[in-house]
Amino acid sequence: MSRRAVATLAGRLPQVSAAAQAALGGVRQASSTAHPAVEPDVLAHLSDTGLLRTQCYVGGQWIDASDGATLEVLDPSTGRSIARVPRCGANETRAAIAGAVAQFEPWAARPAKERSALLRRWYDAVVGARDDITRLMTLESGKPLAESRGEFDNGVASIEWFAEEAKRTCGDVLESPDRHRRFMVLKQPVGVVGAITPWNFPFSMITRKVSPALAAGCTVVLKPSELTPLTALALAELAERAGLPGGVLSVLTGDAPAIGDAMLKSEEVRKIGFTGSTAVGKQLAAGAAGTVKRVSLELGGNAPFIVFEDADLEKAATAVVASSHRNSGQTCICTNRVLVHERVHDAFVATLTAKVSALRLGSGLEQGVTQGPLISAAAVDRLEEKVADALSKGAVVAVGGQRPKWDAGHSLAGGFFYEPTVLTGARPDMRMFREELFGPVTPVYSFSSDDEAVQLANDTQYGLACYFYTKDLSRAWRVAERLQYGMVGINEVAITSEVAPFGGVKQSGLGREQSKYGLAEFQDIKTVCLGLY
Ligand code: ADP
Repeated sequence: MSRRAVATLAGRLPQVSAAAQAALGGVRQASSTAHPAVEPDVLAHLSDTGLLRTQCYVGGQWIDASDGATLEVLDPSTGRSIARVPRCGANETRAAIAGAVAQFEPWAARPAKERSALLRRWYDAVVGARDDITRLMTLESGKPLAESRGEFDNGVASIEWFAEEAKRTCGDVLESPDRHRRFMVLKQPVGVVGAITPWNFPFSMITRKVSPALAAGCTVVLKPSELTPLTALALAELAERAGLPGGVLSVLTGDAPAIGDAMLKSEEVRKIGFTGSTAVGKQLAAGAAGTVKRVSLELGGNAPFIVFEDADLEKAATAVVASSHRNSGQTCICTNRVLVHERVHDAFVATLTAKVSALRLGSGLEQGVTQGPLISAAAVDRLEEKVADALSKGAVVAVGGQRPKWDAGHSLAGGFFYEPTVLTGARPDMRMFREELFGPVTPVYSFSSDDEAVQLANDTQYGLACYFYTKDLSRAWRVAERLQYGMVGINEVAITSEVAPFGGVKQSGLGREQSKYGLAEFQDIKTVCLGLY
């Protein structure tokens, strides 16, 4: 631990409730902050090595798994192990829930202004750690540093925005239909929240769940992806430094089904906030039904990007690259299908191919690299299968279409890379028309009328984000209304912001994150009726 971190923590005892202490009885508490579980060259990337935690934060205590089991964290650009974190399960989850339950009433009872001030202190601590956190994000997810910084700025804005919004909650006083009763509507926190987050945004998927939950007065048990736990644990470290009471936010790494199951079975966890695959989202929704928990689900997408014949082709091609190749294509709002009007098809493909050819593959820590690896070897295998399926049905590779051919001795030879790719001649009978690619592959389809474009765009079980480029205002409005998606980008692909609701329709999910609508997901409405004598 750095001297800065030691100084910050010195003299402050962890605030742990008796309930969490009791529940922690069977769980090994960490006795040291040394880093036996981290590769030394990882520490060299950080100026504040105290941010690299390899224990879980449960009820205000740093703990190991009760049986000492650990999980390896890999650097996807080399395939090498960089750290080990606890493989927690049901026991540790129950302890975290007990801590969250014990802290719920006192946390919810605090004036919103006080919760807001603590969130703001967390925000300040996180902003101060920007360089280290973005390096951790790149190390464990592989994304280029510039993308980590973009995600950081986006994600930290959620903490700030919800810290402010915490103070603006207001209910209603309703006009009564009679003389003897008065009606009011109170907004109250839903209770303990189980948050489950994915690896593709190791930072912002956490802040957009935890910040509104804490702002609303909920307490949170967070399970980050087992593939990217280090960013999440750094956020817990910073929450502790900011003075968030232990138990208000717990962070557990480990066995996803065991942790998820313990959350689902608990009567006291009143809400699940999840971002991840549609398959797991469905399981969680089914499991939540057993105790009638609220759920917010942000699931898969299959975003179309329509290029109409009047579009600015240069701008549209730049936007397709940004949207399709961001995070190596591994986001749920990444363009998955480019639909181009037949009259501009060839010109557009030429511009797009030139831009994709200019992308630079490599380690996310290296200056000038625009595209990192995929998250795992299995992800590359899955992508290859979908490309092979498309090629067997007539698609043609305009650029890429394979793994890079590094020399055996190349430092990235063990990494999970795939070349930035454009495929032409894509058709709806190919798997990639219906399935998320989750990789740096841009398939181009062609259409001949607005009706056909809208029909193709809507021909999917998903409904998260969609995009189109046109200069015709009437077409823009008509098409935006007809697209069956939760979010529509017109001449724009940077559609996310802390102020705007994020979420999907159809099998892309339930509920919204970000914005006042995201805060409402963590609030129950209570009707109070006062009888007048
Ligand atoms: P992806 O395919 O993008 O990795 P997943 O849905 O598998 O998406 O993972 C998203 C999050 O859900 C991760 O934190 C993962 O550990 C978690 N998860 C996976 N399976 C389960 C489960 N059965 N119960 C609870 N969480 C799960």
